Amino acid sequence: MQHFKYLIIGGGIAGTTAAETLRKNDTEGSIALISDEPYPLYSRVMLSKPAFMRGEQSLESVWLKKTEWYEQNHITFMGGVSANSLDDSAKKVSLLDGREIEYEKLLLAIGAHARKWTIPGSDKNGIYYLRGLDDTKAIIEAFKTKKKAVLIGSGCVSFEIADVLRSLNMETTLVMREKYFSEPMLSEPEGKMVEKKLEESGVKIIRNAEIAEVLGGKEATGVTLKDGMKLDCDMILCMIGVIFPTEWLKTSGIELGRGIIANEFLETSIPDVWTAGDIAEYNDTVLKETFLCGNWMNSRGQGETAALGMTGKRTEYKTVTFQTSHGFGDVIGFVGDTRALSERKVFYRGSPEQNSFARLIVQGNRLIGATLINRLPEMGTITKLIKEGTDISGKEGEIIKADFDLKSLI
Ligand SMILES: Cc1cc2nc3c(=O)[nH]c(=O)nc-3n(C[C@H](O)[C@H](O)[C@H](O)COP(=O)(O)OP(=O)(O)OC[C@H]3O[C@@H](n4cnc5c(N)ncnc54)[C@H](O)[C@@H]3O)c2cc1C
Repeated sequence: MQHFKYLIIGGGIAGTTAAETLRKNDTEGSIALISDEPYPLYSRVMLSKPAFMRGEQSLESVWLKKTEWYEQNHITFMGGVSANSLDDSAKKVSLLDGREIEYEKLLLAIGAHARKWTIPGSDKNGIYYLRGLDDTKAIIEAFKTKKKAVLIGSGCVSFEIADVLRSLNMETTLVMREKYFSEPMLSEPEGKMVEKKLEESGVKIIRNAEIAEVLGGKEATGVTLKDGMKLDCDMILCMIGVIFPTEWLKTSGIELGRGIIANEFLETSIPDVWTAGDIAEYNDTVLKETFLCGNWMNSRGQGETAALGMTGKRTEYKTVTFQTSHGFGDVIGFVGDTRALSERKVFYRGSPEQNSFARLIVQGNRLIGATLINRLPEMGTITKLIKEGTDISGKEGEIIKADFDLKSLI
């Protein structure tokens, strides 16, 4: 049985950053990185970006690590193999190919997988998901021949893909469950702003709708909605969210929520086992809540923090993360916790008419999150206000003025 001082499951940005940090802090300890994808680290973020999908940016630009990097840093990379059980009392992980690996310290950085359809006809050709590099390659290939797309879902990835589809002149219908685009991640006025851009570019939007069945023989030729409406298409892009691949961990007794539960040091309920990235449902001491945060910056930061803990340098993860989504010449930004829960107050800045609009989310007397459309320069200041827990009471009348300088609150 192979034995490693540090074992990492998941070769995405969280797992790879952890490996890099471990090597910087422990030049001798053995490190293994197991990934069910066969590739070295690549930019998942780029996979849906219009310039990449249209081929304006080369496929080569997706790589963030070369295979030699793992060798040079004495990191054993095992690609194309899944971990399928964890025995924490024996401190070993079993792989699907039958191998067993012992660890001293373990990191679970297993990210998320695309949620797949289980409706009648969902096994036909012509249905595409997007989480990994192979998915993007298949979509880019399909663009060469397909003419008529049905795009399902109203998240950031759909927004970016809609831009690509229209720029390729594909007839595009967007079907979404929600009553407006990206509800509740965006406010209604923000969602409507995005919809306006989509519709102006020629995307047909069908709201409050779900697909009942995929039509066709071997190849998908259309869909039927639950209300009976039929749509013809030769390509279905199914962007209906993610699932967290924790099934194999259930017998280990590790505490699971939607993801893997962790404290602010990213330690799980099992000794010598850490988690990081999209999968970590951690105690966020800035937001003062348990938080699952699916973005690149968070995953990289958590990979680093968890690795420091694994080398004995226990460090609290304390960051406010943000991400952006680009399409149709617009930039949508998300900072902190953007959920407008009932106990929270919401303030708006700017206006949809000026194509510059933001929603600030306030809990008690502190800002905890924001969504911003075309107000990117404010992102840094808002991040700082959230991180410092700045008391904004009495300033509510000011922050709603589009030109009020938020920096003056710091
Ligand atoms: C199309 C797309 C566009 C995005 N755009 C943005 C953006 O613009 N900005 C932004 O901030 N974020 C964006 N994101 C989100 C961002 O990419 C993720 O937050 C980040 O990649 C998560 O990193 P991770 O290392 O936690 O997980 P992942 O990158 O998902 O890596 C986890 C790895 O573990 C593997 N794995 C899972 N289970 C096992 C197992 N049992 N055994 C072995 N391996 C396993 C997975 O297959 C995967 O390779 C985007 C995501 C997608 C899909």
